Amino acid sequence: MNVILLGAPGAGKGTQAKELAARRGLVQLSTGDMLRGAVKAGTEIGKKAKAIMDRGDLVPDEVVVGIISERIDQPDCANGVILDGFPRTLEQASALDRVLTEKRKKLDAVIELKVDDSKLIERIVGRFTCAKCGEGYHDRFKRPQVRGVCDVCESTEFTRRPDDNAETVTRRLMVYYRETSPLIGYYYCKGNLKSVDGMAEIPDVLASLEAALDARK
Ligand code: ADP
Ligand code: ADP
Ligand code: ZN
Repeated sequence: MNVILLGAPGAGKGTQAKELAARRGLVQLSTGDMLRGAVKAGTEIGKKAKAIMDRGDLVPDEVVVGIISERIDQPDCANGVILDGFPRTLEQASALDRVLTEKRKKLDAVIELKVDDSKLIERIVGRFTCAKCGEGYHDRFKRPQVRGVCDVCESTEFTRRPDDNAETVTRRLMVYYRETSPLIGYYYCKGNLKSVDGMAEIPDVLASLEAALDARK
């Protein structure tokens, strides 16, 4: 099963994609995580992407399409993927259609996570991540059970993204409405869009997503 999770920055795509992937035997493909990996590794792509990401703009379509197209070919993706943060433009969406057709794969569901803007900002500025295993946390909404210790791997090191600050968030939201929100209409017209209330608590959102996947035609 191949699924797209659509939603604004901070909507909960990463949190939910990780859990859904584990439950359904799928692979989570987050272009944001892959790009941050490239920045950290100092690759050519990473060097070009860093400044763009820091100011909250989008990395060029051909770069992310190339990354996804290569990654989705790997054997571990044969059972299906959850795309988190991709596609983000109409260009990327039609490139994805082409890539999937070429590789004889199909898109089974597109789920939009709906969250109000004020909540998005609150979620983004409080977000932090385990530096070792990547588990996501929040200052108020998802604290580690033992303060300062990762629930999953017991690491005591955490990171915050340089783009998760109040100024850049506004820019990222603007970019989302301009470039990414048209995809909701695009997939609605293709007949595979579902919407889920992303304002609820993390486990409740997960349950709605599971129900949406189970109810698909
Ligand atoms: P968020 O989880 O807040 O939505 P991501 O981790 O998905 O953020 O993305 C972080 C940044 O990486 C984006 O602001 C953008 O610069 C870049 N990026 C990620 N995915 C894409 C994409 N599909 N197209 C272009 N840029 C992307
Ligand atoms: P995205 O990948 O869409 O940018 P994340 O999954 O990283 O979003 O979530 C953003 C922040 O909000 C994280 O700190 C996460 O722990 C928190 N979060 C995610 N879902 C919820 C929710 N349903 N309620 C409260 N906080 C949430
Ligand atoms: Zn950890």
